[in-house]
Amino acid sequence: MKATSQTEIHSYLQENRIFSPPDAFSANAQISSMEEYRALYDRSIRDPEEFWSQIAEQLHWFRRWENTLVWDPPFAQWFVGGQTNLAYNCLDRHLLTARRNKAALIWEGENGESRTLTYFELHREVCKLANVLTDLGVKHGYRVGIYLPLIPEAVISMLACARIGAVHSVVFGGFSAEALRERMNDAAATVIITADGGWRRGGVIALKQSVDEAATGIPSLRHIIVVKRLDHAAPHSWVEGRDHWWHRLLAVASAQHDAPPLDAEHPLFILYTSGTTGKPKGIVHTTGGYMTQSYLTTKWIFDIRDTDTFWCTAEVGWVTGHSYVVYGPLLNGATTFMYEGAPMHPAPDRWWSLIDRWGINILYTAPTAIRAFMRQGDSYPAKHQLASLRLLGTVGEPINPEAWMWYHQHIGRERCPIVDTWWQTETGAILISPLPGAVPTKPGSATLPFFGIVPDVVNRDGESLPAGEGGFLVLRSPWPAMLRTIHRDAERYAKQYWSDIPGCYFTGDGARRDADGYFWLMGRVDDVINVAGHRLGTAEIESALVSHPQVAEAAVVGRPDELKGTAIAAFVTLEAGTKPSQLLKQELRDHVAHEIGSIARPEDIRFAETLPKTRSGKIMRRLLRDLAAGQETVGDTTTLEDLSVLACLREDEET
Ligand code: ATP
Ligand code: MG
Repeated sequence: MKATSQTEIHSYLQENRIFSPPDAFSANAQISSMEEYRALYDRSIRDPEEFWSQIAEQLHWFRRWENTLVWDPPFAQWFVGGQTNLAYNCLDRHLLTARRNKAALIWEGENGESRTLTYFELHREVCKLANVLTDLGVKHGYRVGIYLPLIPEAVISMLACARIGAVHSVVFGGFSAEALRERMNDAAATVIITADGGWRRGGVIALKQSVDEAATGIPSLRHIIVVKRLDHAAPHSWVEGRDHWWHRLLAVASAQHDAPPLDAEHPLFILYTSGTTGKPKGIVHTTGGYMTQSYLTTKWIFDIRDTDTFWCTAEVGWVTGHSYVVYGPLLNGATTFMYEGAPMHPAPDRWWSLIDRWGINILYTAPTAIRAFMRQGDSYPAKHQLASLRLLGTVGEPINPEAWMWYHQHIGRERCPIVDTWWQTETGAILISPLPGAVPTKPGSATLPFFGIVPDVVNRDGESLPAGEGGFLVLRSPWPAMLRTIHRDAERYAKQYWSDIPGCYFTGDGARRDADGYFWLMGRVDDVINVAGHRLGTAEIESALVSHPQVAEAAVVGRPDELKGTAIAAFVTLEAGTKPSQLLKQELRDHVAHEIGSIARPEDIRFAETLPKTRSGKIMRRLLRDLAAGQETVGDTTTLEDLSVLACLREDEET
């Protein structure tokens, strides 16, 4: 149902009563009704310490905490005095149960090869690497860089670090040597774990070569561990004493390792944000709170069951990969699925064949991926059964109703609820989301806050705004998985998140709440456009554009305008096979005016083959803003997926 407006989608949903998940799926084992959600939510925010204590008790602690929360704004500590071990909770805890020889991890490579590791096997590998790292001199609190393809070794590496109390910093394998150097230097890593290469779209990514290049600029670096992923390694150098093959080290390592008790506030990882708004920030997460919340959100939002195979399509280099590829599913004893390669390689239906082949039950992905599949056409998913799927999720940006509908019909086959989950690298876990079977969805809304979370929509002074009014999304109280600081820059942490709006954590996002209290994300506040005194969310205008039958994707920015102050400029990617024309431009302008109102009618429309995105697939509107304003300098582009996109956009401007 491509040729349809947002209004039509909404009425379709209302008529078909799919605001509420169908009965067959309303059996959320934990929370089964809206009343239950409301009652527990109220309790959880009346006494968050009591609530989170009860959850933390479901996990293993070597020593119980004395204080659930020590809050010295803006610095929080959770489960103070408690000692635990995240890797122990992900692995050892299950070895005494029927999960012992259940698949913890199923992996498929781009070339079709696969590996399955049971909890028992994964535990062994993690123990061996823990011993290897210790032998290489990695101590408690040391930083270890992980720069790997999406292969099981990435998970083993993260868990081995967590096990010995080393702080992991995963850098997405698609990043350049320069981006790696910048991050590893900031983290002062002593060891980097990499591979001789990785597969992507049939080509080889020369990871070790990038590490070699970066290494000269990382004075703290002592050792490089190299996973052998390729038959014929891409060219790279080898420094005796510094470089070690993973398989050689592990072949002689002991699989005996006792997980040491670590303080709840022991740093667990440093992860750099996607860089959509500027230079990436080194976000620091700690052990106990992050563990408790990634555990619970996976359990309740994905309603995870022992039989579930969970596929979160994120790279482990993003926070989504940390919390919902690795820690959340393993803490819950589920099976996590990982796929190494590009979504459409070698055929546009690769993902759908993976779902059938591995019996995937839960699929969690990003709207940008969904739109890319829509562009390929409906025939690809139609070739597959997709019968094992029972729950779908999205994250990363607001999902436009058009994409929501496609996901619902063509992938969820109208039977799977969709959870639209709002959160950030900084929040560590999902904070706003529907609960399948309890909190009904509204397409395009992340719906209601998770337990213990107090979001609000406020003005500059921190005053709550009434329903329907757009404002700043803030969080009014601390939560266990919150970031503790920015690495080596507590001042920037306080300034960036806790100074703009009095007494609150400021998310940087704009939102409004509807009469039911549902949250609608409007995009980043830096992106919100003020046209003649009206505040317009970029997400809303983009969504209107994409609801036009010929539009595949759109990005909207403001540009200075003498008359209005700001005019709306839209960059539009058309459906495959559609020709750009002046007529179409006019039609699109009218379409937006019809969908939202004439105030939102774009002044400029530019057709573009592709839009500039971060490597996590998010549109970098700040670059487009500069382009729309005719500025030459386009700021920091290190996280941009494909630099040539900018050149193309500039050329288009000239023609
Ligand atoms: P940087 O902070 O470096 O600019 P980033 O904000 O893109 O990068 P992430 O932490 O990966 O890095 O992304 C979090 C942001 O993604 C949120 O602040 C929000 O803008 C957006 N987002 C995530 N999930 C959703 C969602 N379900 N609906 C709307 N927006 C979302
Ligand atoms: Mg951010």
